[in-house]
Amino acid sequence: MKENEDRREGFSDAFTLYRDVAKEKTHFGSPKAAADEIKNIAKRFGADIVGITQYDERWLYTQKFSDMSLTERPNDIPDGLKYVIVTAQKMDYDLISTVPSALSGAATGLGYSHDATVVLSVAQYLRNLGYNAVASMNDSSLNIPMAIQAGLGEYGRHGLLITKEFGPRVRLGKIYTDLPMALDKPLHFGVKEFCGICRGCTKGCPVKAISDGAPTTQTYNQSNIKGIKKWTVNGEKCFGYWAAQNSDCSVCIRVCPYNKDYSKWLYQLGRWLAGTRLRRFMLTLDIKLGYGKRKQPKLWWQGQRQNFNNFIRNFFSSGKQKKNNQKLR
Ligand code: SF4
Ligand code: SF4
Repeated sequence: MKENEDRREGFSDAFTLYRDVAKEKTHFGSPKAAADEIKNIAKRFGADIVGITQYDERWLYTQKFSDMSLTERPNDIPDGLKYVIVTAQKMDYDLISTVPSALSGAATGLGYSHDATVVLSVAQYLRNLGYNAVASMNDSSLNIPMAIQAGLGEYGRHGLLITKEFGPRVRLGKIYTDLPMALDKPLHFGVKEFCGICRGCTKGCPVKAISDGAPTTQTYNQSNIKGIKKWTVNGEKCFGYWAAQNSDCSVCIRVCPYNKDYSKWLYQLGRWLAGTRLRRFMLTLDIKLGYGKRKQPKLWWQGQRQNFNNFIRNFFSSGKQKKNNQKLR
């Protein structure tokens, strides 16, 4: 934050908090070696997922806007930064389970805090090696198309990135740089097809800001990018809800069937099956098992966790309960 300079770095301005670029350049031998080194270092600084793509002007914001002075300014990313390192930091599953709540805002806040540390550290590391680098979070350009190009995940109906590792439960950051690196390729693991049959986020959104139909080029207001065929979210309706709530909202993340802890092999299997012709069965199973339901914040404070064992236990105990009720009739 540099409010005295009318800047909110990380939200409406790229970061400027660096030491100068070193005069001497370190050479890596090849773009592949450079990419490997930077991905490794980004993970050591705390990134959960890292990918690399080319700078793409289509995703750059036309101007910056200050919500303090209510003025527009040019979007001044330095020339020559042709590469973008995109990072994703996971958000806490149990906190997100309590959405909407003030408590769940902690997941978002922590995600942003980790994000800031990672992107600033990577940018300074590159500058120490003699390459120009600018760290950025939500400012200067759209993160999601760059993350898709960098192979971090696929695009979902709720307008968010869906990663293989954490589903949509991530916060994104990026570093523009002039270090030449090998580029990653977009991933495909069946999200588009799954979203074609699922409407979890459309139904769950409290203000109905998420599309129910097929991808189109329709836009709702100036907050939507024009000329891209996709599922478009009415961002101003969405943000209006945030403002009315005095907090953020991640209902569309909580209810998404891809919002799982994929360190567990069973969820990895489920994700794979969701990308096959069994996707409808997997969607039905997900709903039956009660994933995506809101947990009351007081249960979080009591230390209860929504994990797979709890789901299985609840599922079978609710079946037993039904049978007992039938016997009693
Ligand atoms: S964040 Fe909340 S209001 Fe916004 S699109 Fe998602 S569910 Fe709807
Ligand atoms: S809730 Fe369903 S439709 Fe929405 S993004 Fe997730 S998988 Fe796609």
